[in-house]
Amino acid sequence: MSQAYPNLLKPLDLGFTELKNRVLMGSMHTGLEDRFWNIHKLARYFAERAEGGIGLMVTGGFSPNMVGQLSPFASTMNNRGTAMLHRHVTSEVHDAGGKICLQLLHAGRYSYHPFSVSASATKAPITPFKAKALSTKAVDKQIDDFVSAAKLAKMARYDGVEVMGSEGYFINQFLCERTNKRKDKWGGPFENRMQLPVEIVRRMREAVGPDFIIIYRLSMLDLVEGGQTWDEVVKLGKAIEKAGATIINTGIGWHEARVPTIVTSVPRGGFSEVTAKFYGEVDIPVCTTNRINTPEKGEEILSGGKADMVSMARPLLADSEFVRKAQENRSDEINTCIACNQACLDHVFQLKRASCLVNPRACHETELVLTVAPVSRRVAVVGAGPAGLAAATTAAKRGHNVTLFEADDKIGGQFNYAKRIPGKEEFYETLRYYQRQIELLDIDLQLNTRVDADRLKQDGFDDVIIATGVKPRTPGIDGIDHPKVLGYLDVLRHNKPVGNSVAVIGAGGIGFDVSEFLTHDFSHHPEGQQADFEDWKAEWGVQPDYEGPGGLAERKPTSTPRKIYLMQRKTSKVGGGLGKTSGWVHRNSLKHRDVEMIGGCSYDRIDDQGLHITLSDKEGKVIESRVLDVDNVVICAGQEPFRELFDDLAAQGVKTHLIGGADVAEELDAKRAIRQGTEVAAGV
Ligand code: FAD
Ligand code: NAP
Ligand code: SF4
Repeated sequence: MSQAYPNLLKPLDLGFTELKNRVLMGSMHTGLEDRFWNIHKLARYFAERAEGGIGLMVTGGFSPNMVGQLSPFASTMNNRGTAMLHRHVTSEVHDAGGKICLQLLHAGRYSYHPFSVSASATKAPITPFKAKALSTKAVDKQIDDFVSAAKLAKMARYDGVEVMGSEGYFINQFLCERTNKRKDKWGGPFENRMQLPVEIVRRMREAVGPDFIIIYRLSMLDLVEGGQTWDEVVKLGKAIEKAGATIINTGIGWHEARVPTIVTSVPRGGFSEVTAKFYGEVDIPVCTTNRINTPEKGEEILSGGKADMVSMARPLLADSEFVRKAQENRSDEINTCIACNQACLDHVFQLKRASCLVNPRACHETELVLTVAPVSRRVAVVGAGPAGLAAATTAAKRGHNVTLFEADDKIGGQFNYAKRIPGKEEFYETLRYYQRQIELLDIDLQLNTRVDADRLKQDGFDDVIIATGVKPRTPGIDGIDHPKVLGYLDVLRHNKPVGNSVAVIGAGGIGFDVSEFLTHDFSHHPEGQQADFEDWKAEWGVQPDYEGPGGLAERKPTSTPRKIYLMQRKTSKVGGGLGKTSGWVHRNSLKHRDVEMIGGCSYDRIDDQGLHITLSDKEGKVIESRVLDVDNVVICAGQEPFRELFDDLAAQGVKTHLIGGADVAEELDAKRAIRQGTEVAAGV
C-alpha cells in the first residue's frame, strides 16, 4: 500500500459512517440517468468505479420534480417506482464496497423546457426559455419536493444526497440579486434570499434522520455580475452547517459565467484557493474541486490544509482505477483526464451519452467489453498516434503479441503538437500514459521505423492495423509557394521562425491553436508549464481575494508578441465549430489578445505585399478587398488521410484494418481516433 498520498488515502470519519479515503467522485451527468432502461448500464458504470476504490461517489443530477428537470424527460427522483429501480445502482455499488449519494438538482431557469420556474421571471443567456416566478406558496412546494426526493433516495438505499446549490441552478438563483428580485420572504436582504437552501437542508435532515449523508454544494464563487459577496458565502455556509449538512462541497462559477472554470487551460487545482479561504469557517468536512486530476495534486491540496476532501469527476471517468493505482503507488499508470470536455460535457450538452476521449469505455462498460482473446495473434500496428496507441494497447491487453511501428523518434503523432499549445499542457499526460502502457504490456515499439508494405508482408503478421494518420491539406492559392508561407507543422514541429504579423488561413481547431501559440509570450510562461493561477485570474477578471459580488474584477490586458489575422471562408461565426463547452473560451482568449477574426474570406493571392483577400457577406455579395501586410501566412486548412501504405498493401492483397485519420480525415479528432482504435482492437 502506498505511503505517497497519506492525506488523500486517509479514511474520513463522518460520525455515523466512515469514508475509506478523501476522494469524492463529483456529480457528472452521463445521459444514462435519463432513461430507466439504462439503469443496469448506470449501475455497472458506478460499480466499476466503486471497485476502483473511490471513497464516496455522487450521481448526476436528479430533479426533485418535473419543473426542475434539466430537459423534458430528464432524470427525476419523484416516485417510489424510480426509487426502487435505483436499488440496482446502490446494491451493485455496495456489493463492490463503495458508497454513493444521489445528487438533487433543480435546474430553475436553466431548465431547457417551457415550464421552467425560478425566483423571478428571468431568462438565462444559455436557454431560450424564460422562467416563471414562483408564488410564495409554490416555493414551499419546491422545498417539500426536495425533502421527498431525499426520502426516496434513502428508500433507494443511497448513502445520502448532495443538494446542488451552485453553478447557477435553482438554489443559486434564489441566493443572488442578479436573479432574485422578489419582494416576499424569499427575496430582499441576503438573510431572506439564503432561507431557501437553509430550509431545504433543515427539513431534509428532519425527514431523513441523523444517519444519512447530506452534502451541500455551496457556490463559493459565482463569477457572474450580481453574484454573492464573500461575506454572504460564509454566512450561508455556517447556516447550512447548523441546518444539518454533513459535508460542504465547493461550487465554482455559474454555467453562464464568462470565466472558464474547468477547461484544460484552467491551471490545475487553482480554484482550491477559494475552498482554502472558506476552510475553517465550519466544523464539518469541506471538499474542494475543479481541475484536480492527479493524486499528487490532491495530496498537495490536502497536505496544504486547504480542505478535507477533493472532488474529481472527469478524472474518474477517464480512469475508474484512479484510486487503486494511487494506493498501489502506480500513479504513472493513471489515464489522466486532459480536461478537453470533448466526450463528456460536450456530449451532455448535445443530449448525447457521455464518454471520455481518453477512455471510450466510460459509460459504455457493458458494451465495450475487452475480453481475453481465445488465441494470441501477432498484430502489427503502424503509426503511434492516438489511434495506433489505442489499438496497440487494447490488442496487447487482450493477450495479443503486438509490434508498434512509428516513423518518428517518439510516440504520439499529432498529440506532440497539441501538447505544445499554451493551455493544453495536459496532453503530455496522455503520451506519458501510453508510454507506460507500452512498457507494461511488453509491446514491441519500433521507433524511427517508417514501415512499408514489403516489410509487413515479409514479417507475416496475423493482423495489420494501419494508423498512419493525416497529412496537412495544401490549398490551391495563387502564391502558395511564396517563402512567407508556412504550414502548421513548420511552426509546431520544425520551429521555423515566424514574423511579427501573421495571417492564419483556416479557423478550425488547429488554426485556433496555432494562433494561441503565436500570441503567447513564452518568456513569461515557458513551454510545457501551466499558467500561474494569479496571472490567469488577472487575465480572466477574477478578484485576487474573491471578496466582492461574484468575485469579478476588470480583466488585465495580455501582452502578445504578434498581430494575428485568423481567417475562414465560411461566413458563419469564426470558431463556431469548436467544442460546445470550450469553443467560447478559445474565441474569448484570442479576442483578448486582439486577434482579428475574419469570416467570408476568399484568398486571392500571396505575394511580397502579403495576403490579398476578398470579403463577402452571407449572401455572397463582395464587401471589400484587402491586403494583409503580413510577414507570414500559416496554413491550417484541414487535413487529408495519409494512407499510401494501406493502398500498397491492398494492391498486394493484404487485408488490413484502417483507423484514425488514415481512415477518414474529415472531422477527425482524437476522440474518434482513440475510440476507433480501441473498438477495432477489441475485435481482432
Ligand atoms: P496521427 O496523430 O497523425 O498519427 C499518425 C502516426 O503515424 C504519426 O506518428 C506518423 O509518424 C505515423 N506514421 C505514418 N506513416 C507511417 C509509417 N509508414 N510507418 C510508421 N509510422 C507511420 N484532437 C482533439 O481531439 N482534441 C484536440 O484538442 C486536438 N488538438 C490538436 C492540436 C493540434 C495543434 C493538432 C496538430 C492536432 C490536434 N488534434 C486534437 C487532432 C488530433 O491530434 C488528431 O485527430 C489525432 O492525432 C489523429 O490521430 P491518428 O492516430 O489518426 O493520426
Ligand atoms: P478543421 O477543423 O476541419 O478546420 C479546417 C479549416 O480550414 C476550416 O476553418 C476550414 O474553413 C478551412 N479550410 C478547409 N479547406 C480549405 C481550403 N481548401 N482552403 C482554405 N481553407 C480551408 O481542421 P483542423 O483545424 O485541421 O483540425 C483537425 C481536427 O483536429 C479537427 O477535426 C479538430 O476537431 C481537431 N482539433 C480539435 C481541437 C480542439 O480544441 N477540440 C483543437 C485542434 C484540433 P473554411 O472551409 O470555412 O475556410
Ligand atoms: Fe476528461 Fe476529456 Fe475524458 Fe472528459 S472527455 S473525462 S475532459 S479526458
